[in-house]
Parts: sequence; C-alpha cells; structure tokens
Amino acid sequence: MNKQCPGSPLEHYSCQFVASGLDFHSLPPCLVPEIAFVGRSNVGKSSLINALLGRKKLAYTSKTPGRTRSINFFSLASRLYIVDLPGYGYAKLSFKERHQWATHLEQYIQKRSSLSCVNILIDSRRGPKPLDLQMANALQFFKSYQIILTKIDELTPQKLEHVLKHTQSIFHNVPIFLTSVLRKNSLHSLCANIESFMVASP
Ligand code: GDP
Repeated sequence: MNKQCPGSPLEHYSCQFVASGLDFHSLPPCLVPEIAFVGRSNVGKSSLINALLGRKKLAYTSKTPGRTRSINFFSLASRLYIVDLPGYGYAKLSFKERHQWATHLEQYIQKRSSLSCVNILIDSRRGPKPLDLQMANALQFFKSYQIILTKIDELTPQKLEHVLKHTQSIFHNVPIFLTSVLRKNSLHSLCANIESFMVASP
C-alpha cells in the first residue's frame, strides 16, 4: 500500500498501479473509463498525479526528464484508470525516439476505446507552447481534452490572470484548471472533474 499524503480530495479511494505499456498493443484491457495526463517533460505531471491521488510516490517524480517512455496505468477504486503518458519536448531525445513516441501516442488517442478525456498540462510560468497546441490539434477530432495550468504558486495573481486569459484565447471553450501541488485546495475542482468520469460502484 502506498503511503498517503493527507489533504488530497481523492485519497479516500483505493488506488494502485495496474500496468505499464510501451506501445498500443501492450496496454491493459479496456475495463473501465480512463483519463490521461500529458504534457512537456518537467511540467509537474508526476507531482500532480501523486497529489491528486494522495500518494507520495505513485507516479515517480524525481526521474530524469523524458526517460520514462512507457504509458502507466493506475486504478482508482477499480472505477477509473488514471493514465500517465510520457512527457514530450525533451530536447535530448533522438529523432527516432520522438517518432516512436508520436506514433504510440497517436494510436492510443485514436484507438483506445475507453479513453474518455485527455488532460494537457501546461506550466503556468511558460504558458501554451507550440507542442501543446500540436497535442490539442492531434486530439480534437478524436477525444475531448482539458487544459491544466500547473505550478500556479509560482505566479503573482496578476501574472496568473494574464496567462489564464492568454490560454483561454487560444483554447476556446475548453475547460481550464489552475493547479499547484503546494496548494491542495487548488486541486478540488479537478478532483470533482475526475470523479465525474468514474463508473458507478459495482
Ligand atoms: P514531470 O516531469 O512532468 O513528471 O514533472 P515532475 O512532477 O517531476 O516535476 C518537475 C519539477 O517541478 C519538480 O522539481 C517538482 O518539484 C516541481 N513541481 C511540480 N509541481 C509543482 C507545483 O505545483 N509547484 C511548484 N512550485 N513546483 C512544482
């Protein structure tokens, strides 16, 4: 059992690692709905997944950026899979590795029948970058997606308002969540959103 870190709105659900897959054909069966998390390396994805699920080390945070190339599945009360997709934009990846990553991701987005929604994480200090827009474009005809601005504790309220307006102007009518793992109350609306994707208890 993973150690719980108090304060997470989802911590009362059981949660466990299910499986890792390196490509579309090695993924676990589609048993429950799933929501995926994706973003540039170092955006804060592992930290956010850990904070949302209330476990300190479920998704590994201190890894070398971009080195974890697998698609990782976590079960939330056997009613939802949380899917940790490999980070993109890691400068040291070879052309071949980038190409492989893009192919696996494309297959996952287009063919995974249980994938309900993809959360695109964007570092609030940097705002949306071309790779984030590419990700949104790749998704738009296949799956619904949402934007999560991470690390908002690093911004003044004025800067946060600016980046939020800028992000809204780029992603029209797309839900945007403002998060910081250092401010647990910033995670509540995202947790409620995640719960809305869970199937009813068996
Ligand atoms: P990943 O590569 O996207 O999985 O990113 P990590 O979760 O490993 O985080 C990258 C760095 O950002 C680490 O040094 C984290 O401590 C830091 N970080 C993650 N989330 C936050 C946050 O909400 N606020 C701040 N200030 N730092 C964060």
